[in-house]
Amino acid sequence: MLPGTTGSNAGAGSGQQTTLGVMGGGQLGRMFVQAAQAMGYFTVVLDPDVISPAGLVSHYHIQADYLDEQGLAQLMQRCAAITTEFENVPAPALITLGAHRPVAPSAEAVGIAQDRIKEKAHFVRCGVPVAPYAVIETPTQLAEVADDLLPGILKTARLGYDGKGQARVNNRAELDAAWAEMKNVACVLEKLLPLQMECSVIVARGWDGACVNFAPQLNLHRDGILAVTQAYEGNMAPALVQQAVKATKSIANELQYVGVLCVEFFVLQDGAAAAQTLGTLIVNEMAPRPHNSGHYTLDACDLSQFELQVRTLAGLPLVQPRQHSPAIMLNLLGDLWAGGVSPPWHQVLALPGAHLHLYGKLKASKGRKMGHLTITGATVAEVRATALAAARLLGIDPF
Ligand code: ADP
Ligand code: MG
Repeated sequence: MLPGTTGSNAGAGSGQQTTLGVMGGGQLGRMFVQAAQAMGYFTVVLDPDVISPAGLVSHYHIQADYLDEQGLAQLMQRCAAITTEFENVPAPALITLGAHRPVAPSAEAVGIAQDRIKEKAHFVRCGVPVAPYAVIETPTQLAEVADDLLPGILKTARLGYDGKGQARVNNRAELDAAWAEMKNVACVLEKLLPLQMECSVIVARGWDGACVNFAPQLNLHRDGILAVTQAYEGNMAPALVQQAVKATKSIANELQYVGVLCVEFFVLQDGAAAAQTLGTLIVNEMAPRPHNSGHYTLDACDLSQFELQVRTLAGLPLVQPRQHSPAIMLNLLGDLWAGGVSPPWHQVLALPGAHLHLYGKLKASKGRKMGHLTITGATVAEVRATALAAARLLGIDPF
């Protein structure tokens, strides 16, 4: 499905442009829309908010609830194919859309990714190790939790993000209190693991099963929110890179996944203690969409994660992306606008290789993702030095 052709409506002078749709109007939708438009597509965003980062830049914005029948009907009428930009789009909406239009990723894949219980079962099915965990849906299951899962992290099965819907618990009393606090919704309790580092792998898989990948990114989280992503050769041991890419591809293949998928991993400290030994790779979670840790691909690669999302959706060829520059990405959270004062952009943009992306959000609040800054350069040492200088200017802690 190429831009400028709409199946049977193809052809010059028909006045028909191929239109791609996205469920959700956040920053990921915005960057998808921008990539689609660069390739000549028209775009539609469905989002309930009057003003949203993606709605602001899309040709069309359908302002409706995700389950609104009329809104979904309009979306299908306008679009040749539809994707999603966040995992909490209700699966029934994707089922409705999928009955009439190509939808990628599928309702089934999104349904698995949005439920930690199903997600973990899928990882186990793929033979990729997960943190020791227990499902807690009933008081009996709560009482039967094994002692060695404590201290642990209680996570709601659904609707968690950026560390929300989670509680660290040291003992049974805290676990009981945390589950009550979460209104006894379905949860998983995960053993708290000693992390050496965190990384993620982004793949794009087409309708024909072709699968391409970016190299693993090294991710630093602060307060449960991604703070810094480091993407360059040598950021991780080659054997870990291989393991993480292989695991991600098997997770995508087993789902018959179509679209861009990001899988987050932990590397445990067990290897760090014994010099030369690799830490154990554990899968944490997956996102059925482009991911914050892949934003550097916009500036450091010949194909971005968003362009690959467009290509998968439109059935265009997938080629292996090539990273041409080492890169470090800093997330710009609302905290940087404290007191309503904007960060010192003049100084930041005077740094070589600084690429500023702001999402058009009108209100800054603590922890809210307002934008990101990617630093590219000729060498890793140069990129690190510049990224640390940018962090200093912005008041972001060094890494
Ligand atoms: P979210 O959906 O909010 O991203 P995650 O499950 O990825 O939730 O958890 C957020 C962060 O919390 C992780 O990136 C990691 O830093 C930390 N974390 C989560 N689970 C564990 C665990 N089992 N052991 C140690 N740290 C964890
Ligand atoms: Mg996460």
